[in-house]
Amino acid sequence: MTKKILILPGDGIGPEIIAEAVKVLAFLRDGSDLDIAMDEALVGGAAIDATGEPLPDATLDLARQADAVLLGAVGGPKWEPLPIEIRPEKGLLGLRRELGLFANLRPAILYPQLADASSLKPELVAGLDIMIVRELTGGIYFGQPRGVSAREGGERVGVNTLRYTESEIRRICEVAFDIAGKRDKRVCSVDKANVLECTELWREVATDVGAGYPNVVLSHMYVDNAAMQLIRAPKQFDVMVTTNMFGDILSDAAAMLTGSIGMLPSASLNETGKGMYEPIHGSAPDIAGKGTANPLATILSVAMMLRYSLDQPGLAERIEGAVSNVLDAGLRTSDIMSEGMRQVGTCDMGDAVVNAMADASRA
Ligand code: NAD
Repeated sequence: MTKKILILPGDGIGPEIIAEAVKVLAFLRDGSDLDIAMDEALVGGAAIDATGEPLPDATLDLARQADAVLLGAVGGPKWEPLPIEIRPEKGLLGLRRELGLFANLRPAILYPQLADASSLKPELVAGLDIMIVRELTGGIYFGQPRGVSAREGGERVGVNTLRYTESEIRRICEVAFDIAGKRDKRVCSVDKANVLECTELWREVATDVGAGYPNVVLSHMYVDNAAMQLIRAPKQFDVMVTTNMFGDILSDAAAMLTGSIGMLPSASLNETGKGMYEPIHGSAPDIAGKGTANPLATILSVAMMLRYSLDQPGLAERIEGAVSNVLDAGLRTSDIMSEGMRQVGTCDMGDAVVNAMADASRA
C-alpha cells in the first residue's frame, strides 16, 4: 500500500536541505520497491506569513493522514517579535502534541571520517554511536500545576511539576529496549532517583520493563553522573532512556560530542510507529539562501524514517552507506570542512549522495 509522506520544509535553510532529502526519497521511489506519495505543506514562519498561524489546520490534517512527516526547521529573526503563542516553534510543539509523538530518538553518531570535528580527543569519540531515547510529551515540561504567582507574602513563586504515570514510563522504556535489542543490547536508564520520587518510580518501572527483555542488559545512572560520563567516556553507552528534561539536556551534550550539528538526524514517534523526522539543528538564518547548508542531517532523517515508520531497514542502510561513501570521497560542506577535503554546497552534497546510492546499486 502506498505510504503517505508529508514534507514540511519550514524556514531558513529548511527548504534547501529538504530539497536534497526529497531527491533521495524520489531516487528510492523510482528505483526500488518503495511505494510512497509525497505531499508538501506549510509550517512555522512560512505558515505564519501565508495564513497567520504557525500550524494551519490544513497542515495538521495532512500530518494526521500521513504515515510519516519530514520536517526541515522552523523559526528565524523575522518572527521573533511575535507573541509567543503564534511563534514558528508553536507549530512544531503543536505537531508533537497533536500526533502524540512521545518518543524522541536522538542518535549521536560520529562518522570516523569526522573524528577531528569533535571537541573531544578523536580516540574518545571515533566511531561513537549512542541512541538517546527521550520522553517527549510528559514530565516537567507539561506537569500541572505550573506558572508564576504572587501568593506568598507578596513574593512571586515559580512552580513546575515533574509528573509521570507508570504507563508513560513503561511505553518509553519499551521503545528503548526494542531499539537496544536491534543494536548492542544495552540500555542505561537515567534518573535522579536519589532525590526525586517521580524518578524513583521511573527506576522501578524501567527495571520491571527490563525483566521482559532478558537479552538486553539494563543499567541505571543518576543524571549528574550521566552528564559527566558522556564527556569522560561516551563510547560506554549504547541506548540511553530518560525523562523529557534530562533527555533534552543530555541529547544536546551528546550531539556536541560529534562536533557536527549538520550531521545529526532525529525521530519522534507515536504509539503506532508514525513519526516526525527532522535534523536536530535549527533554521540557521545566518546561512539561509547561500546554498552552503549541510543537508546530511536531513538525508539521514530520511534513513530513520525508512527504518522506524516505513519498515525498510535495507533502504535506510543504503542511505547511510552512501553518506559514508561521500565522506570517504572527501566531500565536505563548510560546517564539516577540514584540510585536504573538497568543499561542496548543499545541492552538490545531495547529488553526491544520490550518485553514491546509484553507484552502490550498480556494483
Ligand atoms: P541553528 O541550529 O539554526 O544554528 C546554529 C549554528 O549552526 C549556526 O551557525 C548555523 O549556521 C549552524 N548550522 C545549523 N545547521 C546547519 C547545517 N545544516 N549546515 C551548516 N551549518 C548549520 O540554531 P540557532 O541559530 O540557535 O537557531 C536559529 C533558529 O532556528 C531560531 O529561530 C530557533 O528558534 C530555530 N530552531 C529551530 C529548531 C527546529 O526547527 N527543530 C531547532 C533549533 C532552533
